[in-house]
Formats: sequence, C-alpha cells, structure tokens
Amino acid sequence: MTEHMPPPAQGCRNTPVLKERGQREVFCGLTGIIWLHRKMQDAFFLVVGSRTCAHLLQSAAGVMIFAEPRFATAILEESDLAGLNDAHAELDRTVSELLARRPDIRQLFLVGSCPSEVIKLDLGRAAERLTVEHAPRVRVLNYSGSGIETTFTEGEDACLASMVPVLPKTDARELLVVGALPDVVEDQMLALLDAMGIGPVRLLPARSIDANTAVGSNTKFALVQPFLGETHDALTRRGAAHIAAPFPFGDEGTTAWLRAVADAFDVSDATFAAVTDAPRARARKAIAQASDALTGKSVFFFPDSQLEIPLARFLARECGMLPVEVGSPYIRDALHGPDLDLLPEGPTISEGQDVDKQLDRCLAARPDLTVCGLGLANPLEAQGLSTKWAIELVFTPVHFYEQAGDLAALFARSLKRRAVLDRGASAVAAE
Ligand code: SF4
Repeated sequence: MTEHMPPPAQGCRNTPVLKERGQREVFCGLTGIIWLHRKMQDAFFLVVGSRTCAHLLQSAAGVMIFAEPRFATAILEESDLAGLNDAHAELDRTVSELLARRPDIRQLFLVGSCPSEVIKLDLGRAAERLTVEHAPRVRVLNYSGSGIETTFTEGEDACLASMVPVLPKTDARELLVVGALPDVVEDQMLALLDAMGIGPVRLLPARSIDANTAVGSNTKFALVQPFLGETHDALTRRGAAHIAAPFPFGDEGTTAWLRAVADAFDVSDATFAAVTDAPRARARKAIAQASDALTGKSVFFFPDSQLEIPLARFLARECGMLPVEVGSPYIRDALHGPDLDLLPEGPTISEGQDVDKQLDRCLAARPDLTVCGLGLANPLEAQGLSTKWAIELVFTPVHFYEQAGDLAALFARSLKRRAVLDRGASAVAAE
C-alpha cells in the first residue's frame, strides 16, 4: 500500500456548528431532474407545478434538444389552485395520454412542487392509484422537489428515497453504490471495484428498471454523494448496512472510500495497492499540476449543494487551500463525519443559512475564492471577490481518481480568471 497523508492533529468533527435558520438562497429540488433523467434511461419525471417550475427546468436543462424528452411539467392552472377542478382526474388523464404516447417509459415519477404542496395535492395517493392502473408495464412513484421542502440536491435524495421501499428483497451479500454519477465515472468506479474482486455491485439509481438492484440485511451500501441522508435512512430501515467513508473526491477521498469498501469485502492490502497505485499516482500528478494557483489561498463556502464539506477537505488537504467558513445546508454525522475528521480545524462550520449575516461574514473575511449559488455570485464578483458556482460542481464529472485533476482545475480557473480581470483593470487604470 502506498503512503497515506496522516489525518490532522485536530479535525472538525467536534467543532461547534454555527446553526442558522434564516433566509436561504438556493435552487429547489426540481433541479435534480436535470441529471436524473439522463441517468435513468427508462424514467420520466412529471412535475406537477406551475409555469415557473416549467421555466426553471427549461432554463436549467438548457435548450431542449431531445426529440423525446424525459421530463415535463403538468401545469396547474389558476382554476386548479382555486380548487375549482378535480386535479386528480386531470392528472390521471395527463398520465394516461403520456404513457399511451411513450411506450419506452417504465418508471414515472410524479414530482411535487410549491404549488402542488400549497393546494395539498396528494401525489402519494395519485402514484398508488396510477401504479395499479398501469402495472405491470409502468411503476409510478412520487417525491417532492418543492422549494418549500427541498434545496437543490435534495431532489435526488427524495427521488432515490422514494425508490427504496419498492426495491426487491435480496439475501445476497452485495455492494450497493448509491448516488447518480455520470456514466463514464460510474464505469471507472465499477472497473476499480471489479479489479478488486468486489461484487456483485448494484447501483441506485440504475440505468434501467430491469437492473438487478435489490436490498436486504446482507446489503452493504456506500454513498457517492453527500446529500443522500433520506436515502441512507430508507436503506437502513430495509436492513442494509452503511459503509461510512469520506466521499470520493481527489486522491485521498477516493482512496479512503475505496479502502472502506474494500475492507467491508475483505480485500487484501496487496490487491488494493495493485489496483489503486497507478490511478492514485495519476491523480496526484494531475492535482499537483492544477493546484499551483490554489496553494495558500483562502476559500469560503456558502451552503448550497451539500458537497461543501468533502470539497473543503479536498481543497485543504490536497490543494493547500485555507477554508475560512464551510457552510452546508445540512450536516449529518453519519454522512459527513469521516470528511470532518480529515478537515483540519480552523474554519467556521455552519449549517443552514441566514444569507445577509453570511454575506457580512464573507465580505469581512474577503476570501480569495467563494463557492456559492448563482444568485450570490454576481453581487460578490461586483465586490471584487472571485466566485465559483456550486451548481457547476454537481454538473461536472468530479468523482474518483481520473477526475481529481479536473476538480482542482475547476477551482483554479476562477482564481485565474480574477487575476486576468485584475490585470486588465490595472492596465486600463495605468493608461
Ligand atoms: S418548485 Fe417552487 S421553487 Fe421550484 S420552480 Fe416550482 S415554484 Fe419555484
């Protein structure tokens, strides 16, 4: 086994958390549909919402170029909101028309929104009724993506959690990897696990409903995304055991994640080293090349994607950055504890948001780099701060060894852009 970086003398797991429950500036959970619909090839996401929800999806997804898109919005009109129509009857009709037109749909998600929640439309009851009507060809489930209930990445958590109760039962000793990854990254991960002899490996979400994803008391599951708290709880309720580990960002996170999985499946040190040494070396080299611009620079995380804690750990431990504040919408010891253990003490750890107070702290600290949502980036840039959009980190392949250099480069790019802008401003001032 190649060398480990020693853990810090004092990590952040026991750091008192600054809990804030004020106004928050984040996207709602509908956003997750953008990556989930690409992942689950036989699924369709029907948002039951307003024109605002439809606009959010259209703009977040970019221009719709699919001949057969896998998401849509059933628009609730004013008369629906006023309770003048039978929304359930209309929903049934919309679903029947959709399924008649699209025989490729095998899983249909009814996705709740702010308006459907305000009028208390019972999508759970609708999903049960529609499952009976359209079984066995289509399975209908529901979850909420509403901005009242969910932040940005919680939509995926809610979606996966809705699938857990209907997964078939198994008594087999299997690894279940939980969280949507881009296909290319998922294939890299599966190749590493396979080379270590770990299997069968099941995926949630799987690319198709016909994949053999099942769960039971001999299932061990590992999360690849740090925002899957509800899914974690749902799997635990089905008897599966969680493999706690840092998340697979960078060399250290990937190695620790794979090591925890390997330990759960009795892989020897020699096999582990034989499989991981070469990609580790590549990852280290790529990170070293990309992180020159980051070393010694301070970074401030606003709470947005729930990726903040593992990313802060990566930037501090592997890129030499100095986190000032690490904010996350939620912090759960079972999920974030292993990364907090490795994050050197020093930064403020905050949970939730009171955006004005947090902006004041950020402007007072004047970090070299601020990771935040789209809505905060422009005002902060106008104050001369360098920003990185948190949403980009969710849409870009950043997990596991082969993406480690790209992950460092994503942060470095923001600093380089600011340096170019500053040089340009100085040149203009000198003229
Ligand atoms: S679910 Fe709510 S927050 Fe999200 S787009 Fe619709 S109205 Fe806006």
